Amino acid sequence: MKIETKCIQSGYTPKNGEPRVLPIVQSTTYKYDTSDEMGKLFDLEAEGFFYTRLANPTLDAVEKKIADLEGGVGAMLTSSGQAATTAAVTNICKSGDHVICSSAVYGGTFNLFMKTLKDLGIDCTFVPPMVTEQELNDAFKDNTKLVFTESVTNPSLDIADIEMFAKCAHGHNVPLFVDNTFPTPINFRPIEWGADIVLHSTSKYMDGHAVALGGVIVDSGNFDWNNGKFPMLSTPDETYHGVVYTEHFGKSAFIAKARVHIMRDMGPQQSPMNAFLLNIGLETLFLRMPRHCENALAVAKFLEANDKIEWVNYPSLESSKYYKLAQKYMPNGTCGVVSFGVKGGRKAAEKLMAELKLASIVTHVADARTCCLHPASATHRQMNDQQLEAAGIYPNMIRFSVGIENVEDIIADLKQAIDKV
Ligand SMILES: *Cc1c(COP(=O)(O)O)cnc(C)c1O
Repeated sequence: MKIETKCIQSGYTPKNGEPRVLPIVQSTTYKYDTSDEMGKLFDLEAEGFFYTRLANPTLDAVEKKIADLEGGVGAMLTSSGQAATTAAVTNICKSGDHVICSSAVYGGTFNLFMKTLKDLGIDCTFVPPMVTEQELNDAFKDNTKLVFTESVTNPSLDIADIEMFAKCAHGHNVPLFVDNTFPTPINFRPIEWGADIVLHSTSKYMDGHAVALGGVIVDSGNFDWNNGKFPMLSTPDETYHGVVYTEHFGKSAFIAKARVHIMRDMGPQQSPMNAFLLNIGLETLFLRMPRHCENALAVAKFLEANDKIEWVNYPSLESSKYYKLAQKYMPNGTCGVVSFGVKGGRKAAEKLMAELKLASIVTHVADARTCCLHPASATHRQMNDQQLEAAGIYPNMIRFSVGIENVEDIIADLKQAIDKV
């Protein structure tokens, strides 16, 4: 099936007389006829549902759909994008291990690696988003367990050279994790370029309507965990009577362990209601993404031609330093987010935002409604102007998340606001 058809059809095939629409199974528990049958589930000898923290039929269908969209062997939904990253990293890293991460990742992910996981003993080396192959190779240590990047970074819109990242990671026998939230599998499928594990905050375009928080981990099934670096997958797990994940689950070892170990013990499960809402969002993802990209490119071109605007950053603009990489990996478009700087600094940016009528000021990005954020006075408020510049967040920067309204209305709104600055 083509990706458009997968968005609609994958994951759920009702049998005779069953609901045509994926039902919400709002039940924590499942009934069995004998204790013996349930015991087999606990021992991982049989497959089935027994407690919604581990698996639920609504979530199961949506997981299958997303795995299919990304081209993976399996997926696991989580309560948020942050939970997906935490679960995926702790699935193969423990105290004493080391990871390599792009410095331009989402703020929440940056803090997770910079502070929370460091405090738990998992060390991180940050590399610049445009790192060279040599610099990346130099960042590896004996205890490095994974490389992490975003395909298109939020909010700086850097494009990672995924093929190069994958080559370096595999050269050191570790997997490449890619957060693919911004392009979504409609515009980019990292597994096709060598990524091993793909993550999403489904709270963004996948949901698309800003109604449900969620995250997902997708396993490509391609990484060989039997290379001696990952004993947690290739040696017996005593908490399951000595099961060896790579033997028992084969290609799905990583995602199976994430569920039966990490989800069992840490529990960041998505609710069935949120999975139901996410599924409705996924059904139109392939219609919305091209519109977001088309509108964002028109907005970026309008801004570039306006003399009150100092700079515009959008990877699909020919003036972008990422134009070539964007064309290579995402020829159909990147995402709907554009960032730009207003002449006149912080004051001018704040004035412009206050004058916008259609575009609302919100923390969220990447949903159907046009929205914007002034990072210097919101997400990065604690920093002074000097610290902001160092972090690549300019005081006059506006992050503009272009929605799927008629683009003439979006541009007219921007124009009347810019005219007042
Ligand atoms: C929002 C976001 C996250 C975090 O997701 P939540 O669902 O908010 O926890 C992670 N990565 C990227 C790229 C994001 O945009």
